Amino acid sequence: MTAVSPLTDRFGRRIDYLRISLTERCDLRCVYCQPAGCPGASDADVLTAEHVRTIVEAGLGLGITRVRLTGGEPLMRDDLEQIVSGISSLPGLADLSLTTNGQRLAVRAPGLAAAGLRRVNVSLDSFDPGAYRAITGGELAPVVAGIDAALAAGLSPVKLNAVLSGPEMLDHHAGAFVKFIRRRPVYVRFIEAMPTGSCRSYLPAARILDRLAQEGDLVPIAGPPGGGPATYYRLGDSLGTIGIIAPISDPFCGRCNRLRVSASGRLLSCLFSAAALDVLPALGASDPVGAVSERIAAAAAAKPRAYADVASASGISAMHAIGG
Ligand code: SAM
Repeated sequence: MTAVSPLTDRFGRRIDYLRISLTERCDLRCVYCQPAGCPGASDADVLTAEHVRTIVEAGLGLGITRVRLTGGEPLMRDDLEQIVSGISSLPGLADLSLTTNGQRLAVRAPGLAAAGLRRVNVSLDSFDPGAYRAITGGELAPVVAGIDAALAAGLSPVKLNAVLSGPEMLDHHAGAFVKFIRRRPVYVRFIEAMPTGSCRSYLPAARILDRLAQEGDLVPIAGPPGGGPATYYRLGDSLGTIGIIAPISDPFCGRCNRLRVSASGRLLSCLFSAAALDVLPALGASDPVGAVSERIAAAAAAKPRAYADVASASGISAMHAIGG
């Protein structure tokens, strides 16, 4: 097989990670993401399994090696297993992961693992059923069942994403995360909330770490294979691990290796990009892989050095469509 030369942007960053949002639909209404629904959100999924395969093939041909499927909520797609099996054995794909709210994961984890999914990130902001319901509008129990099903299906590593919306969340709920990871080999990552339509405040990573340090010794460790922006800590003798993702107090643009395809087929070079390239016309071209490759290369070339000052930025208008 011919070696693929790495895709590199103007600032020397290697671009090897593609995140594809499969739908704008979601079965939750998280307060910081799409409270009360998103008036502009589309019910119709635009990207087919064949489109996703074409996009991934094009990316792999340019040096992308890692792909994440996200949403909206990707488990809203009945054909998610078909999408996964369509790409999981493409040559050059080193990592295939999914970001999900976990509501529908318990029954589908075995099938997704069989289709070739390697690992999963589950979003979970509180282990208190009432607080979880208040934040998301959904129920906690199916998420915990989904996490255990993912572990049982051999999806590894399992990571949890927690956005703590305020100091009271930290003070009241940090202990429950610590308890959860004592006997489960999962990586909990606390994420500073980024400015979205309705969300303008965040809990700084330093404050989160201070609070967690009250639960036991935090020892910095290397993260799981696959990199990513989190810094990780072992906490006492827990099987699981704590991670911190600090896009605002410690931006990681200098290490950003990703491009994104939104659920409507827009290719974004930055989460905060206002400009985007439309991939849909390329998907209908006579040589779709070639045409999409050109768009991916153009998006990499347009990647900004950094997002503007995030705290004052106008915000991410459609997190539900881009997929985080
Ligand atoms: N529905 C899936 C889920 O819940 O994981 C995938 C889509 S969701 C938009 C992807 C991730 O974005 C979730 O972990 C969610 O917590 C995160 N997210 C959404 N809004 C955010 C914000 N304002 N700041 C930080 N993370 C956010």
